[in-house]
Amino acid sequence: MEHPENNPEYAGLTVNSGIGPVSIINPHLNRKRFVHRHLSAAEYVEGILKGNITILGQAVTLVESTIPEHHAIAQEVIEKCLPHSGNSVRIGISGVPGAGKSTSIDEFGIHVLKEYGGRLAVLAIDPSSERSKGSILGDKTRMEKLSVHPDSFIRPSPSAGSLGGVARKTRETIILCEAAGFDKIFIETVGVGQSETACHSMVDFFLLIQLAGTGDELQGIKRGIMEMADGIVINKCDGNNVEKCQLAATHFRNALHLFPLPESGWAPQVLTYSGFYGHGIKEIWDMIYKYLDFVKKNGYFDYRRAEQAKYRMYETINEQLMENFYQNPTIADMLQAAEQGVLRGERTSFVAAKQLLDSYFALLH
Ligand code: GDP
Repeated sequence: MEHPENNPEYAGLTVNSGIGPVSIINPHLNRKRFVHRHLSAAEYVEGILKGNITILGQAVTLVESTIPEHHAIAQEVIEKCLPHSGNSVRIGISGVPGAGKSTSIDEFGIHVLKEYGGRLAVLAIDPSSERSKGSILGDKTRMEKLSVHPDSFIRPSPSAGSLGGVARKTRETIILCEAAGFDKIFIETVGVGQSETACHSMVDFFLLIQLAGTGDELQGIKRGIMEMADGIVINKCDGNNVEKCQLAATHFRNALHLFPLPESGWAPQVLTYSGFYGHGIKEIWDMIYKYLDFVKKNGYFDYRRAEQAKYRMYETINEQLMENFYQNPTIADMLQAAEQGVLRGERTSFVAAKQLLDSYFALLH
């Protein structure tokens, strides 16, 4: 039989006119595409204080830049913004890749802006972004609703290499965002290793997103991370996964009972939700705001921020000492030889370290 497609009257393959692709750029930003002129520090500060998102974005790019001239101007901008910062709630959101962070943050963000108003910045700490040459976190296109919301600012993780560097840049970006009037800051982080500690050290509430697994989910999660969490939420509680999620929630609640009450005096809660279907989102934010009320009343909110500032002071000292040591040209030359000596077994690591440090201290005199 003749194939129907060869019939000139066949109309099976017609192309409809359709609709064009949706822009990935937030249309509310009114971004000027080709701005080449560099602003002065004062102009950046003025723009930021006026809440200008384009200028805020440019200032964050300066903060993230590795070019020394950018560094100097970024520091000036940060210093001038500092007195206008601090006036926000900072929420850390952590979970392994696939836990549903971006789906959830999209929902969380829309909910929070609707219920509580204000402006929301979504930042990220993702030290893996340097290695994989692309940030897993904070990609604008992953948060479809928030990325086109006029009161949101989404910024992928800076790719500065070391975790310390990435975390510092995120912290500096928080200052700029707060000065620009963002009173809600989400810091997203991947639930693997040290980045959670870094995130925890800069937020008021640390939310851990978990998935219901095969019943052994508690084994995969490190004790330290559970202790950091102010709330644990089990995502994807939908379809035929509901029972498993509720069971997982019970396991987490039981496990949390074994820990002493945290310093905040707040017993972390465990909730289930579905980021995808938008179930249980309100309950999560009711809980978070209840926590914030609780710790603002009992003084823990300010105490935690002060402790974080203290931690940052030591962290900055440590970072700068290390940088000064490793970037010293004499030391850099000696390091090679010392390394080889240790590798060949000619020197013990302790002797090699002592020689290097002695030489460094001698250079300081
Ligand atoms: P992230 O890597 O933590 O940012 O996770 P994503 O938000 O990209 O989600 C990973 C996958 O899980 C995607 O395929 C989502 O569609 C899916 N997902 C996210 N939230 C839910 C949920 O509440 N229920 C279900 N069933 N799937 C979800």
